[in-house]
Amino acid sequence: MPSPKTTLRVGAAMVALAAGLGLTAVPASAAPQTIPDGPALARQLVKKVNITGTNRHLIALQRLADRNGGTRAASSPGHEASAEYVATKLEDAGYIVTRQEFPFVYDETLSQSLTVDGAAVPFNRMSYSEDTPEGGVTGPLVVVPADDTPGCEATDYDGLAAEGAIVLVSRGTCTFGQKATVAGEVGAVGVLIYNNVPGALGGNLGGPLPGSAPAGGISQADGATLAMQEGATVTLAVSGVTEDRTSYNVIAETQTGRHENVVMAGAHLDSVPAGPGINDNGSGSSALLETALQLGGRPKVNNAVRFAWWSAEEFGLVGSEYYVRNLDFEEQLNIALYLNFDMIGSPNAGYFIFDGDDSDGVGAGPGPYGSAQIEAAFENYFEVTGVPTEGRDFDGRSDYGEFILQGIPAGGLFTGAEVPKTEAQAAKWGGVVGDAFDPCYHQACDNLGNVDRVALDRNSDALAFVLGSYAISTEDINGVPPRKARAKARAAETRVAPTVVNDRDL
Ligand SMILES: [Zn+2]
Repeated sequence: MPSPKTTLRVGAAMVALAAGLGLTAVPASAAPQTIPDGPALARQLVKKVNITGTNRHLIALQRLADRNGGTRAASSPGHEASAEYVATKLEDAGYIVTRQEFPFVYDETLSQSLTVDGAAVPFNRMSYSEDTPEGGVTGPLVVVPADDTPGCEATDYDGLAAEGAIVLVSRGTCTFGQKATVAGEVGAVGVLIYNNVPGALGGNLGGPLPGSAPAGGISQADGATLAMQEGATVTLAVSGVTEDRTSYNVIAETQTGRHENVVMAGAHLDSVPAGPGINDNGSGSSALLETALQLGGRPKVNNAVRFAWWSAEEFGLVGSEYYVRNLDFEEQLNIALYLNFDMIGSPNAGYFIFDGDDSDGVGAGPGPYGSAQIEAAFENYFEVTGVPTEGRDFDGRSDYGEFILQGIPAGGLFTGAEVPKTEAQAAKWGGVVGDAFDPCYHQACDNLGNVDRVALDRNSDALAFVLGSYAISTEDINGVPPRKARAKARAAETRVAPTVVNDRDL
């Protein structure tokens, strides 16, 4: 493959042409010309995992969404069809497949609208928000001062006429759920949370919160405008479905390899109710599936490889949390490391690697021991293949969360979501300055046309290489050497012992 920039240019023109014709173009897939040094299995896997195979799974997920109401949300027929598509292929490939059922609280927005002095303002109901009465609620706008903990305590409302009002609060410091609860406590009939970074805001209250104020997100720009409209007449109307349901994770493990030193990789298979979730997270699910199929259920590995297609990630990482919390300590110890792939084909792609050593010094600290090495493994891969990368904080927004919490080293890849691409980022990655990495994040338009297949191809290869490397050895993560090395060491030991020991005994 010529240097990335060239390929990119040619590829991009082809993709644009095909897009103009409404086709989903698959760039000519070629394994990266330069594959880093590493175990043969890892290098072979990179060659075998190609975008044509990965893209076929994306198309399958789109069609399964299309024939099931346009969504693959947890507990929906679209998710079940996706899970059976994945599970059946893995069973045929010789994997030990488990379907792990778990309970969760389903939530879907039915209606949402916001007007201020009669003018409509774009607004996203927060998942699990309480409903307003039929027809909505109307009240004066009360602006809550943006201190360090905006709207996180009742004292933030001291001196404000919050009773019967709709309050405007900044995002930040505490959870959306906390803000909605406090607003309810002070008698507000609605709470508008504005973003603290450019762009619209959608979010999750974390679960049903009886007594909290009906809640939703608005953009940073609209927040600034409304902050100047204290006392304006606001009408807010939201309604949703919130109910107990069940869904299931699909877990698949190789028959071969040590099952007490497992290399694990996961991706959530569910989408938001609003759309088919092809980039979020058909991209990660498809790359993981193609890698698993190319590896096969009985590969020559030292460490068993376990793949997971989580469900209900969009409802708060429910499936992956349930999985980890239902392992006892010994079972957790059997997991050497966890790799996460959530959104790896964003249309305005960035190349982010989870910041295992916290070298960026932002947000959460470093991951458990071993996470820095995982980050370095991905960094090395992209460096050798000529793709610049940036760190991504372990901000807890995807399925690595509970693994890290339990001390299991983790890492993974990401190509960006709702945050706009900067000038500096566009200079190194191409794409559109100021546009979100994924302009269709959590929307109905997150479909087959919403994927950068060059980014998906590169990230799938990085996944294959790093996973394949750890299937051979996790020595740099946890000191467990490859079997062959161990056998050789033991042989060397025994060879020495007979001669020396006897003398000493005497
Ligand atoms: Zn996701």
